Amino acid sequence: MSSSQSKATLDTIIALCKRRGLVYQSAEIYGGINGIYDFGHLGHLIKENIRTAWKKSIKKIDGDILFLEGALLGPHAVWQASGHVENFHDPMVDCLQCKKRYRADEINLQKACPACGKIAWTEVRQFNMMFKTELGATADHSSIAYLRPETAQSIFINFKNIISSNRVKIPFGIAQIGKAFRNEITPKQFLFRMREFEQMELEWFCTQQDVETYFSLWLDMRRDFYMSVGINDKHIRLRKHESNELAHYSTQCTDVEYEFPFGWKELEGIAHRGNFDLTQHSKHSGKELAVFDEETKKTYMPQVIECSVGVDRLFITLLFDAYNEDELGGEKRTVLKLHPHIAPIKAAFLPLTKKLSEPMHRIYKKIQNNVAYEIEFDQSGSIGKRYRRHDEIGTPVCFTYDFDSEQDNCVTARNRDTLKQERVSIDHIEQYLFDLLR
Ligand code: ATP
Repeated sequence: MSSSQSKATLDTIIALCKRRGLVYQSAEIYGGINGIYDFGHLGHLIKENIRTAWKKSIKKIDGDILFLEGALLGPHAVWQASGHVENFHDPMVDCLQCKKRYRADEINLQKACPACGKIAWTEVRQFNMMFKTELGATADHSSIAYLRPETAQSIFINFKNIISSNRVKIPFGIAQIGKAFRNEITPKQFLFRMREFEQMELEWFCTQQDVETYFSLWLDMRRDFYMSVGINDKHIRLRKHESNELAHYSTQCTDVEYEFPFGWKELEGIAHRGNFDLTQHSKHSGKELAVFDEETKKTYMPQVIECSVGVDRLFITLLFDAYNEDELGGEKRTVLKLHPHIAPIKAAFLPLTKKLSEPMHRIYKKIQNNVAYEIEFDQSGSIGKRYRRHDEIGTPVCFTYDFDSEQDNCVTARNRDTLKQERVSIDHIEQYLFDLLR
């Protein structure tokens, strides 16, 4: 085997996702819809593993974490109070010649349109990225609603419900995983910038005096998380925002950036939101959202530190980082060196030939009934082809039942990364997988 290296370009990742059914263009048979994707079986399993790893990682903090599943639609009042109606804009410009639309901050307006080569720009206009709709049959101001552009607001508007129905004390966190929608002017780079995507957001509530301590603690913890899911530390960096980059709600922000083939880009934002959101919702709703401090006997608005990352953006990051090509027996091998916790299938159970299917299927079924993770039985095609398929979807280990298995009660375990093969007793397969996933 020649030494392996990552050669992932955006095109290789898109092709792999399509070939192996990880991701499909949504409504593809009708020509597709820009910036919107469906996830197939393996894609769904990877997303589940990402969500589980994220939940586990935030619970490492010394303090309570509660979870919320908020609604996707929110009334106008919520987004008015949060500042999104007024501020959630991107600058937009059109080419008068070919009618192509761009984000004005992403192109040079002194230069010609990249699509048609003419210089004929409209004025730069502000474009609100929220998807607006109307609830019910009467179309007046009170029926306006928006698909949420971030999950965070449902945490803030439920803050009172949550603290009064759970026994939590500041500092504590409220976390949410769910869909968010942004009418991006130019969705691009596949799952990097979508119009419908999923966020994992944590709002950490603390006192003013603890803000700096927790901000740096969360920076460390979030960086550790990326190492724990197998991302190469060299491809990750932290970048503090300049004051002119800050969102309308934030007073301090640091991005976790990943080195994509198209440059260093934001993977996660860690922001000090101050008490902006709770104060705004308190003002606009007329409801008291401050908390009572038993020690000082005073009420105060807690401070918020937010950690926010997209499931889909992390999904594509993990693929970029895990993608490798090497040469095996004179043939090119594509291998996804995904961390076992992220790999969609943890182990494949392969009879060497179809004649040996029955005993291997029995072993597979028995283990499948005992474990909570995904394993796969695969009997079609040559053994080489099956190994190749599992390398390409990142299966960490393949067990092969061969003609000796009947006699020695063992299967061959083949390691995806080292290609080392060893005999493992059939009775020890579960323990082998337990050790692999520990
Ligand atoms: P960007 O600068 O890339 O547009 P942002 O600063 O607008 O990102 P945030 O509002 O901080 O993003 O959102 C938090 C996280 O949600 C991002 O770090 C990213 O992982 C994810 N995210 C945001 N917008 C998208 C999108 N359009 N498609 C996929 N993921 C997204």
